[in-house]
Amino acid sequence: MLDKRVWRHTTQDYFTVKSAFEVIRSTKPKVWWAKYYKCLHPKARVFLWRVCHNVLVTEDNLRRRGFSFPSRCPLCLLESETANHLFWDCALVVPIWQWLLDSFMVHGYPHCMQESLGLGDNMSMYIKDLWRAAVINLSQLIWLSRNAVVFNEVKFNRNTIKVKLLAVIKETSVMTQNSMNNTVADLQIISKLGVATRARPAPSIKSCRWILPWYEEIKLNCCSSTMGNPGKARLGVIARTHTGAVLGVRTKGKGIINRFDAECSAIMEALSWAIEMGWKKVWIEASSSAAVMNFNSNEVPWKHRTKWVGMHYKFTALRISSTWKEGNFSADQATKIGSYLSSNEREDFVGTPLFITRIEDPLVEYFSILICNLFSFSGGWLGLPSCVSLLWL
Ligand SMILES: [Zn+2]
Repeated sequence: MLDKRVWRHTTQDYFTVKSAFEVIRSTKPKVWWAKYYKCLHPKARVFLWRVCHNVLVTEDNLRRRGFSFPSRCPLCLLESETANHLFWDCALVVPIWQWLLDSFMVHGYPHCMQESLGLGDNMSMYIKDLWRAAVINLSQLIWLSRNAVVFNEVKFNRNTIKVKLLAVIKETSVMTQNSMNNTVADLQIISKLGVATRARPAPSIKSCRWILPWYEEIKLNCCSSTMGNPGKARLGVIARTHTGAVLGVRTKGKGIINRFDAECSAIMEALSWAIEMGWKKVWIEASSSAAVMNFNSNEVPWKHRTKWVGMHYKFTALRISSTWKEGNFSADQATKIGSYLSSNEREDFVGTPLFITRIEDPLVEYFSILICNLFSFSGGWLGLPSCVSLLWL
């Protein structure tokens, strides 16, 4: 076989500018506020940047740059003016923050921007967007009011700030694409703020079956799991005959690889096992449709390509297909045993080992609940006979 040059930063071997950019750029954010930049108006982003860099023209900043004058908060006239005092600790702004915290049902009182934004981290996506916009815009409104007091001698008015802030929150509720959790707490917050509800899309329920292989064909269900992406991976393969009987189970530990690579490794492991056992008619069923698509279109990732080229012609019949984890749970159980194995260490079991508590039944329909096509839940739905599920539906 001829040597071939490969670009190792893509799963296929070809070079892309995007992959080169991903390699050379720093992927970790350098500042804590990077994650709060999403869904913000550019004006609010600039203000957040100024607060976080502490470059607002507050009196403490002027004094640090060599200006010498007595400092006094223009709002309360009691303490010296610093950014933290002006935005969070001043006696005139504390009631506004308390009102906002009550509206969002948040406990605790923040004393800086990081704390304020962090209070919303556990909220639903929709409420989180509203909270972030509210925090940043409230700080900006306080700053503008302070400037009006200093330069235009306008009296500080809490109610004006509240009205403007509610208008901004309403604007954000129209712009955001995220949905709320369908909980009473979220509904109470929405009712207090007077914004529209944004319910989660209704879940869609899809079904799948574990189908028996053809006569004398061996079906190998394979699965992988990783602890993180990339993370320590483990593989599990279960082999069954055309009658549904379990021939054996193989588990294997892998090093630190990404999820897609782990799925491809699981398929390769199933193929290797089939060759070792002398099975000629083989059906591989995996959980990853992307990995299966790569194998079926002969675009196997370059790490496995040499091995694949050497092995795939050894079968008289080979088909590779994908299914959901809900219809592939015995292989998933096998992967859990693989977590005790070190990298490339493997264990083979004849028949059904004790850790495989359930195997797929060809007469049972398995269900997956899909929300926004992103999340799937199993659990209570798993393995319901089709007649019962129809009653449910
Ligand atoms: Zn003050």
